[in-house]
Amino acid sequence: MIKVIISKDIYSYDVHSLFKAFFPKEDVKVVFAGDEKASACADSACDKTYHVDTDVTKNELKRNIYKLLFSETGKELPWGNLTGIRPTRIVMNLMEDGYSDDEVRSYMKDTYFVSDEKIELSLRIAHREREVLKDIDCKNGYSLYIGIPFCPTRCLYCSFTAYPIGVYSNIVDDYLTCLEKEIDYVAENFKDKVLDTIYIGGGTPTTLEPHQIERLLSYVYSKLDVSNVKELTVESGRPDSITREKLRAMKKMGVTRISVNPQSMKDETLELIGRRHSVKELVDAFNMAREEGFDNINMDIILGLPGEDDRDVAYTMDEIKKLDPDDLTVHSLAIKRGSKLAEILLERKEKAGKEGNILHGETDEAEVMSKMMKAASDGAAQMGLSPYYLYRQKNISGNYENTGYARKGKAGIYNILINEEVQSIVALGAGTVTKRVYGVGGRIERCDNVKDIKLYMEQIDEMIDRKKKLFS
Ligand code: SF4
Repeated sequence: MIKVIISKDIYSYDVHSLFKAFFPKEDVKVVFAGDEKASACADSACDKTYHVDTDVTKNELKRNIYKLLFSETGKELPWGNLTGIRPTRIVMNLMEDGYSDDEVRSYMKDTYFVSDEKIELSLRIAHREREVLKDIDCKNGYSLYIGIPFCPTRCLYCSFTAYPIGVYSNIVDDYLTCLEKEIDYVAENFKDKVLDTIYIGGGTPTTLEPHQIERLLSYVYSKLDVSNVKELTVESGRPDSITREKLRAMKKMGVTRISVNPQSMKDETLELIGRRHSVKELVDAFNMAREEGFDNINMDIILGLPGEDDRDVAYTMDEIKKLDPDDLTVHSLAIKRGSKLAEILLERKEKAGKEGNILHGETDEAEVMSKMMKAASDGAAQMGLSPYYLYRQKNISGNYENTGYARKGKAGIYNILINEEVQSIVALGAGTVTKRVYGVGGRIERCDNVKDIKLYMEQIDEMIDRKKKLFS
């Protein structure tokens, strides 16, 4: 264990993240010097103690820690001392302030020690995001998120709100009635605002029957002004939920973008993570969507799935290339606490009695992830897809990012809006979070809907009241 003693009880999150990035396999404990537990390092599990002077500005503090840990380990981090999850936002803000590309490069290097590769990636993404955002009125517009919290079965790595449709199908219609109440609220309170994008996510929205998809979207159209909507996405993530009738219902209702998500193109991995569908089903669903006229199809893959390395990722990319998607999202698996996969892997680790990371045993997680990311970005480039948004997950210890790639003209607008937090997003349904954005770069306030679907339905009026309060 590594103990870090800070002189002031501030910035502990940043200090912890930075130490964790340098020492991903260690438990890192950050304590305030005033805390009596910190006065002596009597902890026998403690390998090393660092004393950090936090009586400085945040950037200076992080630079000092980075230099200290670099000199001790000789390790350079691709994102330098950046610990936030939206590195491209910094680049966007600098551009808004009139910085040239070269000035951005120097700033990112001198202030945060970001690698040249990541600086170029951020610049590329920021330019592309700005190009998309120039057609969006972030101040007077809003986007709508509708959550459908049902899935065919629960994937082992899932930490989202996802109820097995087989058990919950009898409440879907009542759930839609609750969504309609929330849509009524939006119709009443956002009539002076421009609706830019609609995103129906989950869960798996294509667990809805065709008539339920039509019911939901008909209601949206009857209540809201959709004349300015530039994108209507329906996540159809699980191929085992897709049928031709559902694709036709979505097409008829004006859906412009869907996701058909493999995660991996290896059957044995899909089985291990509980996807309960085969690669063949994925390929069939994708081809069916093309036949039904969908010309913007996203695919999601996950790096770091148990047992996979860069060769498996390269194989997955080769198989995806044959399908030629318009958009590809590459996630790095951050095993979320509480997910079934975390429990299973922890159990295995305990049985094996090993100290190594739970993904790749004794191998270096950062190195493995780095190779997998390279295989994914090479594959995306070969498909003619370029990066257009990026975010980092808090518990990715290897300091890596999740990246969306798309063909020209096919970038997911909603993904950019939510990632850069530049527009208010009104979110309907169980377990969703509404964000009020007070202007680009301004403060952000949130309110959430309860996750439990039964409580959500029982307390629907309160869910609406929370939004009323947020936007009052
Ligand atoms: S499809 Fe997505 S939301 Fe549904 S169980 Fe799997 S990971 Fe969770």
